[in-house]
Order: sequence, then structure tokens, then C-alpha cells
Amino acid sequence: MEGNESLKLVYDIIVVGGGPAGLTAGLYAARGGLKALLLEGESSVSQITVTDLVENYPGFPEGINGYDLVERFRTQAGRFGLKILTEDIRAIDAGAAEHWIVSGRDSAYEALSVILATGANWRHLGVPGEAAFTGKGVSYCATCDGPFYRDREVVVVGGGDTAVQEALFLTRFARKVTIVHRRDRLRATPILQERAFAHERIDFAWDSVVEEIQGGEFVEGVRIRNLKNPEKSRIIPADGAFIFVGLTPNTGFVRGLVNCDENGYILADAEMKTSVKGIFACGDCISKLLRQVVTACGDAATAAFSAQLHVEALKGEDYGGRKA
Ligand code: NAP
Repeated sequence: MEGNESLKLVYDIIVVGGGPAGLTAGLYAARGGLKALLLEGESSVSQITVTDLVENYPGFPEGINGYDLVERFRTQAGRFGLKILTEDIRAIDAGAAEHWIVSGRDSAYEALSVILATGANWRHLGVPGEAAFTGKGVSYCATCDGPFYRDREVVVVGGGDTAVQEALFLTRFARKVTIVHRRDRLRATPILQERAFAHERIDFAWDSVVEEIQGGEFVEGVRIRNLKNPEKSRIIPADGAFIFVGLTPNTGFVRGLVNCDENGYILADAEMKTSVKGIFACGDCISKLLRQVVTACGDAATAAFSAQLHVEALKGEDYGGRKA
């Protein structure tokens, strides 16, 4: 990266990721008077921006659309001068004198500390037909694709908060929504379960896994296998299959750098420090109990403060009594 123009500027903190965690870390860093840069991916969007309604982020009693919430985060961070660039980050390498080099496809950036806030992406089922029909009936985003299914029948796969919340959203358009879940009860939070059970257009296929997504040019049906009673295995006629079977963290580019758990989530301590000095992590990409906007923001504030202490210590500017 020698001669790279962008390397001439050394940032105090580079935040990687433009979702709620990244923007909160950026807000705290910028407001803290640090030279901060946020790099948001060009090829992925924060999951929350495609969530129709966020009901459990405090301060919005009526709930708020996920995209609108993130736009508010951006505006607030911008007010304190956070610089935001779009760049898919491919590597983070140690530079000289405890600096870090954060590299994208065309540019590299140098910083005294890095905050990883790369989030997580939808997990795939890996069954026949899933890849072939993606964009032709298979979807991972009800907000984006739901309106195409007006008065149609759709299948939702999964039993967590996302599957149930998005199934409820899809009832605005579809005449029937069948939730296919591999167990006989839902993982989702009780309030969402109650709404789904009470909804006349939501049906359930319990103890069932998807074996194949079928169709011609577009999806026409979902073949399921009942795990307890093979005779109940069947093809559910459907024009769409929405898959919400959990997340996979966007941490591939740092797997050899920081310690991760067996599922690839970054291991961060209570101060959001990773196994590598000067690199912090927060939000959905870390190993933790609860992945919500509010927990992402909490982690991010801590990560930014920890990074600030680290930067002050490196510069010899630390305030007595505060530990980096
Ligand atoms: P999740 O909680 O991990 O649930 C994934 C669901 O998919 C589980 O029911 C799981 O079954 C099922 N599943 C996983 N792999 C599967 C496979 N190969 N085949 C069939 N089914 C499979 O994921 P999520 O619902 O996307 O939620 C992710 C995080 O975001 C959670 O922390 C959640 O609380 C949060 N979230 C919160 C809200 C909200 O608060 N309103 C909304 C959306 C998401 P098992 O149950 O058998 O494991």
C-alpha cells in the first residue's frame, strides 16, 4: 500500500460497518473530538434498514421503520462531523508503531484503533432450488419483496423473531402465510407468537424442514419433510419462500486476526476489546446473548470509549485514573 494517498492521513479511530453499532461508535468517537472515519460496505446493507418496524428501541412509543431509524443515526453522527466513506473492507493489517492499515479494494486507511461493527447477514438453507430461485420467489427480505405477493400464498421458514415478525408483515399482502418450523414451538418472543397465533391468515407447518424449493420460471411450491411423522411430508403450494433461519456474522476478513467463537462471532470482553490490542468490536458481529439495536448501541458506546482510552494512551495524552 506504499504511496497510497489515503494512508497519509492517520485517523484516531476507524469504524468498519454502517449499521446501528457502527454509527453509534462513530457518533461517540466524533463527539469525543477524535479524528474518526466510518467505512460502510457497498455490497451489503445493515439488516435493520430492511426491517419494517422496530418496536423495542426506546424513545419511539409507536415504533419506527428500520431505515428511518438508521437515517436518524446518520444525521446525528453527521452533526458531530463523522466522516463516512463507502468501501468494502478486505483486510486489516498491523502497520508500524501500533498503527492499523484498513484496506478496501482500491484504498487503504491508517488508524491508531479499529472498531469492528460489521454485523451479520441472513443464513441460507442450502437446499435445492434456494439459489436458483433467489430473486424468482426466494427472498430474505419481506420489506423489499412483500408487495410482490399481493393476494398470493407464501412460505416463511424459521421460528425466531425475524421469521415471525416478517410473517406478520407479509400478511399485509399475502392471502396466506405458512410458517415452516423444524420444532413444535416457536423460538420467537411471546408477544410476536401471540400475534401470529391470533392471525387468521397465518398457518403453521410444525416439526418440518424444507427439502426443496420447486417451480418453473418462478417458485411454485416448497417441499417439506415432517421430522416426526413422514406421512405429513408434503408440498406446500407457494409463490414465494421467505427464509429467516438466523444469521451468519460478517467476520470472514478478520478470522485470522481476532479470536472468534465456533460460529465466527468475534470474542469481545466487557470493554469491547478483542484478542488484539487496538482492535475493538461491537454489535451483531460479536459473540453475545442478545442481538438488538439497543444492545448494539450499548456495545458501540463502550467500544468507542475503550478505543478513545487506547488512543489517548498511545499518544501519551491519557487522563490519570482511566484505564485503557
Ligand atoms: P434466530 O433467533 O437465530 O432464529 C433462527 C430460527 O431459524 C430458529 O427458529 C431456528 O430453529 C431456525 N433455523 C436455523 N437454522 C435452520 C435450518 N437450517 N433449517 C430450518 N430452520 C433453521 O434468528 P433471527 O430470528 O433472525 O433473530 C436473530 C437475532 O435478531 C435474535 O437475537 C433476535 O432476537 C433478533 N431480532 C429481534 C427482533 C425483535 O426484537 N423484534 C426482530 C428480529 C430479530 P431453532 O429454533 O430450532 O434453533
